[in-house]
Amino acid sequence: MIDIPAPCRLRLDGAALVANWQTLNRMSGRAACGAAVKADGYGLGATGVATRLATAGCRDFFVATWAEAQALAALGLSVSVLHGVRAEDMPAALAGFARPVLNTPAQIARWREAGGGMCDVMVDTGMNRLGISADDIAAGLIDGLAIDTLMSHLACADKDSPMNEMQRTRFAALTGRTAARRMSLANSAGIGLREDYAFDLTRPGLALYGGVPRDDMAGAIRQVVFPEAQVLQRRTVRAGESVGYNATWVATEDTEVAIVNLGYADGYRRAFSGIGSASFGHWRLPLLGRVSMDLLAFAMEAEAELHADHWISIDYYLPTVAAATSISQYELITGLGQRCQRLWC
Ligand SMILES: *Cc1c(COP(=O)(O)O)cnc(C)c1O
Repeated sequence: MIDIPAPCRLRLDGAALVANWQTLNRMSGRAACGAAVKADGYGLGATGVATRLATAGCRDFFVATWAEAQALAALGLSVSVLHGVRAEDMPAALAGFARPVLNTPAQIARWREAGGGMCDVMVDTGMNRLGISADDIAAGLIDGLAIDTLMSHLACADKDSPMNEMQRTRFAALTGRTAARRMSLANSAGIGLREDYAFDLTRPGLALYGGVPRDDMAGAIRQVVFPEAQVLQRRTVRAGESVGYNATWVATEDTEVAIVNLGYADGYRRAFSGIGSASFGHWRLPLLGRVSMDLLAFAMEAEAELHADHWISIDYYLPTVAAATSISQYELITGLGQRCQRLWC
């Protein structure tokens, strides 16, 4: 195979990733701080993320599926599979490279029948997405299981909602009622609530990667993902001419334009049309017209020494671009495409 350098890349700031984990670890108080690395480390690459966080001292990792767990198996980490075990998952689940988070009576029966060992258990405290009920626990459903962590998940932690305290209270009522060695409730936003949401183990995802789930966490979290793309052509668009599909941008004066190797097929969403921006050195580059599948057009000052083959930095500070596009920070980060090279630095 010929090595073909990609025309777009995600510069990934490993020091910022580690600093974010250390911040969340500190905010977790006495609780241990794990890491959600599902969806391929929220799109950054799960192996690169997990390796760096393990070196920093992170001991607990969370993925959604067994294929995701298997991709991390060679690292020898403690990995929990949030979606538990389907029948199809049992060969992988019994191979011992991760443990399931059991979510339903059927999963619990499946795990018992197979003689499965250590597991985690999800209990529902009000989100009504996954998990057994507190009544199931009272009725003995998980008696006799070897449980590492009993966990639940917050539905509204990114807001100051009465639901947070209701879920915390329901979860806290299970303290000492199970054989679980540890209890875990908080995701990124939950860590930003009070310290008594941390229990024994926290499970941040988004904030590790530079997402800011609550405004009051903004100062503490560093940007990790910096998309960059290469200029294919510099051109002059004359006054009265338009740029891009449907000619939504029309030049009011002669304008220097950079055509850049990135588009919505790379996860740079069409919602950025007319509002995206980039930079080249100290030059600011507003996006012109529609986002195409593979191309963007940016205006530049005529004096800017920006030409074909140069790399520009796409503005992608998650809280800001999420507010501007009305797309969630989660979608903006997990959607970044595979055509872009991941470059840790
Ligand atoms: C994804 C997930 C997390 C991490 O959530 P963030 O909001 O990204 O911090 C934690 N726990 C569970 C059960 C999850 O599904």
